[in-house]
Amino acid sequence: MIVAMQETAREEDIQRVIDHLIRMGFSVHRSTGVRQTVVAAVGARVDFDVRNLEVLPGVQEVHRISAPYKLAARSFRPQGTEIRFPNGVSVGGEQVLVMAGPCSVESREQLFTIADHVRRAGARALRGGAFKPRTSPYSFQGMGIEGLKLLREAGDKFGLLVISEVMEISQIASLLPYVDILQVGARNMQNFNLLRELGRVRKPVLLKRGIAATFEELLLSAEYIMMGGNYDVILCERGIRTFETYTRNTLDISAIPIIHKLSHLPIAADPSHGTGLRDKVAPMARASVAAGADALLIEVHHDPERALSDGAQSLYPEQFSKLMSELQMIASAVERKIA
Ligand code: PEP
Ligand code: MN
Repeated sequence: MIVAMQETAREEDIQRVIDHLIRMGFSVHRSTGVRQTVVAAVGARVDFDVRNLEVLPGVQEVHRISAPYKLAARSFRPQGTEIRFPNGVSVGGEQVLVMAGPCSVESREQLFTIADHVRRAGARALRGGAFKPRTSPYSFQGMGIEGLKLLREAGDKFGLLVISEVMEISQIASLLPYVDILQVGARNMQNFNLLRELGRVRKPVLLKRGIAATFEELLLSAEYIMMGGNYDVILCERGIRTFETYTRNTLDISAIPIIHKLSHLPIAADPSHGTGLRDKVAPMARASVAAGADALLIEVHHDPERALSDGAQSLYPEQFSKLMSELQMIASAVERKIA
């Protein structure tokens, strides 16, 4: 249930509503917008009479949400969620955050070469897996903590935020000192224990759509994180599995406007995993920005033929630079800016 307060509501009015809901057994989440406060009450009480709330001072309207997700629903924060980082970069506002880097951290030389390049080309965040979810147990599994240290060092040196994947609960504490954004991979979108634990963290989480997940399932997974009080969730469309085998996955560009309608959370696109093919990454990245993506996650490698993972979908540095200048033009056509 959503209680939208009047713009003129006083703090004591808001508190009265919250106290009432808590008394009635709901778990309460508050969203304070610039103009209006919205209170979400989560809990299954079919017998609850909404008129008891409607008559309280300062209440503008009360409505039950029929969608199974509540905190991720657009009505919880009609104005949208903007996640701000200390360096002035933000996601979900005017800026489109470009996160770029190798699939996996492989060595200091590899990471620093790529980080230097993507920063010069205009990216503001460095991606790189230290813990890798590989389809085959015989494939490179990542550098672990050493990889995280390199990411932080490169991030600090080149002025880039750092994003890296967390695969299990026990890794959260290891990642926290080194990353600015924790990534949950497609394979873990429904690892509910991990999601719950990330709800306790106070750092943004990028949650990738599972290969066979509906929007409702994706938003319910975001709800698991938000229930714990961590509202800084960035969703990510990274391609779903369809009958088509030409591409690695089918990047669902329509996810971008659909998520914007269903949810207030920002949505990123990952055209690298979304296509699996280097020469399809740039067109899909351009299409994603045109469709309203709030961020992009792109794999870049200076020597992709020798990459330990996903070389075939990694852009050469020059391709990435060219793409960045194209994205600037597309972004300004849709009243956004590349960050
Ligand atoms: C990744 O971004 O490195 C990754 C493993 O992606 P996904 O979870 O989308 O497969
Ligand atoms: Mn990859």
